[in-house]
Amino acid sequence: MDPNVSCEKCSKPLEIKVGQSIIDEKLVWHASFSCQECQYWLEEDGMGEMPDNYRSIIIKEKGLWQIEIFESKNMAQILKVLRTTFDLSIGDVVRLKKNIPGVLYKGTLVEMKRLEKVFRKYNISCRVTTSN
Ligand SMILES: [Zn+2]
Repeated sequence: MDPNVSCEKCSKPLEIKVGQSIIDEKLVWHASFSCQECQYWLEEDGMGEMPDNYRSIIIKEKGLWQIEIFESKNMAQILKVLRTTFDLSIGDVVRLKKNIPGVLYKGTLVEMKRLEKVFRKYNISCRVTTSN
């Protein structure tokens, strides 16, 4: 949905709140729209990648974050984790491989925390920091 949507009932601009969380190592997201005039509201939620127009709101509010991978000795394991956990194509994996060791991904804090959680589970050393 367009974040700049207006109220269906009174056509005032709706206030939008978006968020992401991690459930069982999976990403979930939600967006809620509310009208300060007439109490009209609606919610939208989903699993996995958040739609870009919501994601950019979070990045604007909380900044862009990155995850860095420190090792490359477990490359096969790292690539396997990437493929199976994140549902990536072989092309994506090959592209990401060039970033290891180094900054693997950039995104929202919750997205990076989720990656960190998965990598830590497989003892892959990594770090989440702000990206400037
Ligand atoms: Zn309204």
